[in-house]
Amino acid sequence: MTSALLDLIATAPAIACSACFLQVRCRYDGAAKANTRVQGELAQRAERLDNLPSDAFERVDAVHGRERELWEIFEAAQAKADLQLDIEAIHPFLLRGVLPICPELFGGLGLPRTPADLSLGDGHDVLAGKARVLDRSGADVTHAFLKGAQLALALARAHGVRVAILKERSPSCGVHQIHRDGALVEGQGVTAALFAREGIEVFSEEDVEALPCSPPRVRRDPS
Ligand code: SF4
Repeated sequence: MTSALLDLIATAPAIACSACFLQVRCRYDGAAKANTRVQGELAQRAERLDNLPSDAFERVDAVHGRERELWEIFEAAQAKADLQLDIEAIHPFLLRGVLPICPELFGGLGLPRTPADLSLGDGHDVLAGKARVLDRSGADVTHAFLKGAQLALALARAHGVRVAILKERSPSCGVHQIHRDGALVEGQGVTAALFAREGIEVFSEEDVEALPCSPPRVRRDPS
């Protein structure tokens, strides 16, 4: 591996993204929430990498285990589910420094799952132990939401993520709004709150144009 490629590994900014935006069918009802604005933004950011040799990111991912690690998580969720996850859909994004996350799958909630809402507060309050996440049958799923958020954060840190695009109004991923005790209110989901607390900038599909410009990326030496 060339030193320039090692530099690339160190400096290429990864961006975390709610996996349901990337055609992964991981929502509670087994649907995706593909979003062309988000995918367009990610494609623009990836353009700078297009001059790299086609196998460069495969080698980067092989070194870091990013692809294998994520596929294992998504495949485990698929194995438990009645529905098929389109995990092939995430492959092109993995190769361009995009880290798909689904905190609810990471937390072991599986597919399909009962939808859930925040109760008594938002994600920050859940992190502080002052609020809970209840599914619509009344079951307390706070632990699974916290576990998924922590795993998403661990993956984000391992891959140098500084920015995330997350699904608005989700109890995990909501950036500006969430459902709390049956009402749509201002607040953040559990994972969005944890990311924000840990210094990862969070954006939703509704303010994706405000994403900061990517820092310069290191290109492989042409020789
Ligand atoms: S937890 Fe986030 S990524 Fe997973 S389905 Fe819900 S909004 Fe999408």
